[in-house]
Amino acid sequence: MRPGVVYLVGAGPGDPGLMTARALELIGSADAIFYDRLIPPGALDGAREDAELVYVGKAPGRPSMSQEEIGERLVEAGQGGKSVVRLKGGDPFVFGRGGEEGEALRAAGVEFEVVPGVTAGVAATAYAGIPVTHRDDASAVAFVTGHEDPEKEESALDWDALARFPGTLVFYMGVKRLAANAAALVEAGRDPEEPAAAVQRGTMEGQRTVVATLGTLAETVEREEIGAPALIVVGSVARRRESLAWLERRPLHGRRVVVTRARAQASGLAAALRGLGAEVVELPAIRIEPRIESSDVRGAIDAIGSYALVCLTSPNGVRLLFEAMREGGSDARALANATVAAIGPGTARALAANGIAADIVPEKFVAEALVEALVDIEISGRKVLVARAAEARDVLPDALRERGAEVDVVALYETVREEPDAEAIDAARSADYVTFTSSSTVRNLTEALGDRFPHEARVVSIGPVTSDAARAAGLDVHAEAERHDVDGLLETLLRDAAG
Ligand code: SAH
Repeated sequence: MRPGVVYLVGAGPGDPGLMTARALELIGSADAIFYDRLIPPGALDGAREDAELVYVGKAPGRPSMSQEEIGERLVEAGQGGKSVVRLKGGDPFVFGRGGEEGEALRAAGVEFEVVPGVTAGVAATAYAGIPVTHRDDASAVAFVTGHEDPEKEESALDWDALARFPGTLVFYMGVKRLAANAAALVEAGRDPEEPAAAVQRGTMEGQRTVVATLGTLAETVEREEIGAPALIVVGSVARRRESLAWLERRPLHGRRVVVTRARAQASGLAAALRGLGAEVVELPAIRIEPRIESSDVRGAIDAIGSYALVCLTSPNGVRLLFEAMREGGSDARALANATVAAIGPGTARALAANGIAADIVPEKFVAEALVEALVDIEISGRKVLVARAAEARDVLPDALRERGAEVDVVALYETVREEPDAEAIDAARSADYVTFTSSSTVRNLTEALGDRFPHEARVVSIGPVTSDAARAAGLDVHAEAERHDVDGLLETLLRDAAG
C-alpha cells in the first residue's frame, strides 16, 4: 500500500458478508482505522494487530467527535505518511459525510481514495423483499434525507417535487420525523393510500419490517416500536414484499442459537446457522492451547516413522501434529508406512489437506467406533500413536493395549476455559437453542454461566458422549445428532425447529 493515503471506505449496511473485497483488503493492511458506530460486527477482525483503531462513534444527534475534528485527525494521520482507513456504514458518499471529509483532505493536500459500499437504501430494502424499482411499479428511485440539519433556515426538501416524483422514495434517517414528513408529502399531494414500509436494522440480526400506507405508517412504526437505524420506503414497490419476502422464510428465522465451540472453530457452524436465518450468539467456552512443545510430543515426533498405526481424533489434533512435525523437521512422508486412522470426516479432511488420505474413518465419530473399525488391523506387538487432546477419554488406547499394541498417547493440546463476555451472556439469556459440540464445551459453559444458563433453551448435542456430559451437568438434552459432526448437528437442529 502506498504511504500517506486516506481511504474513505464503505462498510455496507451491517451484514458482514456485504463488505466489499476492497474494504476487507484495506482494513487488513491499514496503519490506522477511524470507524463509526454503524459498521458490521467483526468488521475490524481482519485489522493488523498493531493498527491504531479510533472510534469516532457518532450516535444519532450527538457526535462524540465533531465532524471538523474527524477531518483534522484524518488529515494529520494522512500527513504522517500513514495508510488510513476511514470506515463508514453503507456508502461513504450517501449521507455519510464522506464528501466533506474528502474536501478537508484535498484542501490539506492529502491523497485519498473512495471505496463505495453497499448503501442501506438498496440493501435493507432488498433484505425486506422490496425492490426499489420494478417494471410495473417504479422507474425511478430517490434517496432522501428524512432528518435535515436543524440549523438550516429553510428546508432543502422540496415537498411538492417529492410528492410529484414518479417513483419510489427512500428516506434515510427518517424515523424521528416520520409523522411530519408523511404529512408534508400528503399535503403536497402524494396519495395517503400509497403503500409504505419501514425497515429496521436491515441486513442485521433482528431485522424488522412493517408495511402500511403513507397515511398510516407513522402510527404503525410507533406501535411496533420501530427505531433507528431504519429506512422509510414510500411507493407501491412496498407491496411486492408480499411475494418477495425471503429473509423471514428461512428455516431458523427468528431463532436465537448459542454456539459454544472454541472461537477459532466456531465460524463454520456459526456461518451455517446464520445462513439458515438464525441469530447466533457465540459463547466460546473453550480455547485450544497447543502442547506441542512438551517432551512427550517431541519424543513421539522424533519416532514418528516407527508407528504402525497413527490415530487422530480431531481436526485440531491434525493441525498441531503437522505443525509439530514441521518444527521437528519432518513432513507427511514420515507417515508413509503407517496406517492412519481418523475419527470423523472433519479429521479426515484435515488430514487430506496435509496430503494424507486416511486409511480408516469409522462411520460413527466416537472412539468406540474407531476401536471397532480397527479390528482387522494387525497391531499386536506393534507401535501405535494416539495423538489427541489432553483431557480425552481412554477408550481407544485401552482397547488397543488390550490387543497387545504398544501405545503412546500424546496430548497435542489442551482445551482451557474461556470466560465469555458479558454482552454475549446477556444475549444468550433469551436463546431458543444451545448447541454443544463436545463434552468440554458442556463442562466449561455450564461452569462459566452457572445459574445464568438459559434453561428455557432447547439443548442440541453432537453425539452421545456430549449428551452424557450435558446430563451430568444437570441439563436436559432435547435432540442428539445422528451424524456426529457439524452437518449432523445442523440437520438435527433444523428437524427439531421444524417439528
Ligand atoms: N452512509 C450510509 C447512511 C448513513 S445515514 C449508507 O450508505 O447506508 C444513517 C441512516 O442510514 C440511518 O438513519 C438509516 O436510515 C439508514 N441505515 C443505515 N444502516 C441501516 C440499516 N442496516 N437498516 C436500515 N437503515 C439503515
